[in-house]
Amino acid sequence: MKEQLACLIELQKMESAAGLIHAKKKNLPVQIQKLEEEFKMYCDLVEAQREQVDGLRKKRREKDSQLQAGQESLKRTRERLFEVKTNKEYQSMLKEIETFEAKNSKLEDEVISLLDELDRLETEFKVKEGELAVRRKSFEEEKNKLETELNSFAQELDACLVKSGEIKKGIPDALLRKYEQIKGIGRGVAVVAVWKEICDGCHMAIPPQMYNELQKTTSLITCPNCNRIIYWENRNGLADH
Ligand SMILES: [Zn+2]
Repeated sequence: MKEQLACLIELQKMESAAGLIHAKKKNLPVQIQKLEEEFKMYCDLVEAQREQVDGLRKKRREKDSQLQAGQESLKRTRERLFEVKTNKEYQSMLKEIETFEAKNSKLEDEVISLLDELDRLETEFKVKEGELAVRRKSFEEEKNKLETELNSFAQELDACLVKSGEIKKGIPDALLRKYEQIKGIGRGVAVVAVWKEICDGCHMAIPPQMYNELQKTTSLITCPNCNRIIYWENRNGLADH
């Protein structure tokens, strides 16, 4: 019985270790996902800024070609000025030239302010791109670290399960069933130590006679209060032997 009890204690240790690893492992995929989402949000932000810069560049090209067309029209009209025959025609052409000049001047102002804005946005974008590179590096490092951890936890967990399986082979079926049953009720703890009549599971005292028996016994004893399997643990070898 002593040997089987030792097996049960070993099994419980192994199962509780597996439980701890499982708890640590459980949160890792959530952390990885959160990391990925955060990084993606930043990438989207930088991408939106890139689109803004591209849009502005396109607008600038459009205004440039509008201005060029306007300047050509102005040039052609000015040339035609020397070909007019009547004063009326001359006046109307002057009016036309004035309109072109006003339009071109407005376009020039627009191009200048577009260039200013583009300059500002491009500078901002360059900074953001630099930040993105830094963030990408730390994101990849962190993700790698978490994935490695996840992997090693999975391996540790596997090892615990294999070991638990091996320990179980040394325990009679009936005892194992009893252990599982008590474990289910006792919040995962089925085997507890008793020292100085106090049960480690429920912190209640067991009857003195039972305590005496526990120190010598070769049979399975359960705590009358919490029903867990109990064993005597000598925590003061000199005094209590
Ligand atoms: Zn108890």
